[in-house]
Amino acid sequence: MTTHPATSMTPLECLRTVFGYPAFRGAQAQIVDRVTAGGDAIVLMPTGGGKSVCYQIPAIVRDGVGIVVSPLIALMHDQVAALTQLGVRAAVLNSSLTPEAARAVIGRLNRDELDMVYVAPERLLTDAFLDQLDGLHREGGIALFAIDEAHCVSQWGHDFRQEYMQLAVLAERYPGVPRVALTATADELTRAEIRDRLALGAAQEFVASFDRPNIRYAVVEKDSERKQLLQFLGAHRGEAGIVYCLSRRKVDDIAAFLAQQGIDAVPYHAGLETGVRSANQERFLREDGVVVVATIAFGMGIDKPDVRFVAHLDLPKSLEGYYQETGRAGRDGDPAEAWMTYGLADLVMVRRLIDRSEAPVSVRMVESRKLDAMLGYCETAQCRRQLLLAYFGEHRDGGCGNCDVCLDPPETWDGTVAAQKALSAVVRTGGRFGAVHVVDVLLGRPTPKVAQHRHDELPTFGVGSELDEHAWRGVIRQLVAMNLLRPNVDGHGGLAPTDAAREVLRGERQLELRRLRPAARRAAAKTRPATVDLPPAAEPLFDALRVLRRRLADEQQVPPYVVFHDATLRTIAATRPTTSAALLAIPGIGAAKAERYGEHVLDLVRSFALDAPGETAV
Ligand code: ADP
Ligand code: ZN
Repeated sequence: MTTHPATSMTPLECLRTVFGYPAFRGAQAQIVDRVTAGGDAIVLMPTGGGKSVCYQIPAIVRDGVGIVVSPLIALMHDQVAALTQLGVRAAVLNSSLTPEAARAVIGRLNRDELDMVYVAPERLLTDAFLDQLDGLHREGGIALFAIDEAHCVSQWGHDFRQEYMQLAVLAERYPGVPRVALTATADELTRAEIRDRLALGAAQEFVASFDRPNIRYAVVEKDSERKQLLQFLGAHRGEAGIVYCLSRRKVDDIAAFLAQQGIDAVPYHAGLETGVRSANQERFLREDGVVVVATIAFGMGIDKPDVRFVAHLDLPKSLEGYYQETGRAGRDGDPAEAWMTYGLADLVMVRRLIDRSEAPVSVRMVESRKLDAMLGYCETAQCRRQLLLAYFGEHRDGGCGNCDVCLDPPETWDGTVAAQKALSAVVRTGGRFGAVHVVDVLLGRPTPKVAQHRHDELPTFGVGSELDEHAWRGVIRQLVAMNLLRPNVDGHGGLAPTDAAREVLRGERQLELRRLRPAARRAAAKTRPATVDLPPAAEPLFDALRVLRRRLADEQQVPPYVVFHDATLRTIAATRPTTSAALLAIPGIGAAKAERYGEHVLDLVRSFALDAPGETAV
């Protein structure tokens, strides 16, 4: 057998020279040590946590080839492209290959010319491939098995894959070969299923924090959704991001609206023609600064690290979903934003959908509980991150300093009397009118509807002059969120009091409400997270480096981030390395990238150094 020079490296040397990173992050070092030493592991880490190196480094450092099982074909190709850039010998084996291409990969496998093979589970489980592996195994030629997206074994999850159930065969058939299962899904049930179904009884479990500290969370009260979105996007000019909407129709509308406003936006949903859909996705991946407006169909298998924001125009159905969707932002660790607008109408709609659904009561109860948790997040006057993490069983003390609540704490007030007024206006009008009419009654407005139903004769008519319309809507929204008011099932937007409302009406329960922000202050609230320092003088070089990266990426038909991450370009622009040693010291530049791109980068930096006097003269 030929030996790859890499096999003499320690894991840390591998991280530094191949990947160009100075140090392991969090539990990575322990996981890599465990697997490199031949032990099994179950790794639970959030998206962007750095799961890949946990198996890639042991696969490189150990003798033989690492077999990586992954269900996502597009992602496999991206990973292999990225590894190839690093000088690692990797290949894909799945249904997208021609028979000749597949034979070529098998040939390289047999000649011990590969460090890693990414294989789809159905391919791995064919007799032919397992026979191949038998041969390799006899010669000690299998470095490890990595089972990515391991939660696909869970029958309860959305991503269940039948073939994943059969992967336990690896334990019996290839004893002594370490196996590592990885997932970003953390709940106890899934964890237990992974251990059980994949025969990972002796595996050590590594659970990383699910916090994504670089993501800033914010929720704004919806008044004019499009205007608010535009304002938000104004702080993200030229950056890539995702805008989620509930319906296909809205996706099309918002995408068209944004395009009209000069934003490079494309729609994505399951109703689009396949060709259009994949072209839009491709643009998002390959070009800088494209905004995708999408239904939640978009995202699974999107591994773009430099997504700078995720915006929600509609209320997600659960915090699990919200965490997953927002988690697509900021995988590269740079500041990113998770922003949502949310209003009474959304809340009424989602609640009604659940109440009217044909699903069994037990299912509806779970959905309803999930919605309550989601609403709790929207309405909280506490740190949003704290609340989000607590939902996933992680407790932390104190605020995070990087969510809207921490940065600009909302005032709370004793809303008991206001709530009593609103609830009694609902009760007195018969529990069948929507928020607009209830507010008209509270404010004593003589509208035609008021006249028609003679609601001006009610004792509650005009009792609410201490608050304005906006504030009353806020009170009613919070009452719906707290389950004191409930939308009627008939679907006309009428609100009725729940049993719990009685306690409030009888004065047995105090209510702490959030004060809405005055419009001016809301508009002024900063939405932009502090970006990593790039001195203004470095910006022209940074822009030029991006152009260079785009050209290098296009030449090789890979996405730009496979060549260099933004953070790497920023460091180059800020530090202006002029030697290859200085270049190698920059995080994200390993030996292969220095060799491949070093001269291009250094030339560009040098040409800017020549321009430097001109810059300082201004
Ligand atoms: P996951 O698979 O968990 O979503 P990745 O493996 O894609 O995460 O890693 C997320 C990002 O973090 C990638 O851009 C990767 O290059 C980077 N990364 C991983 N480990 C390190 C490290 N030790 N130092 C610096 N960056 C790292
Ligand atoms: Zn916070």
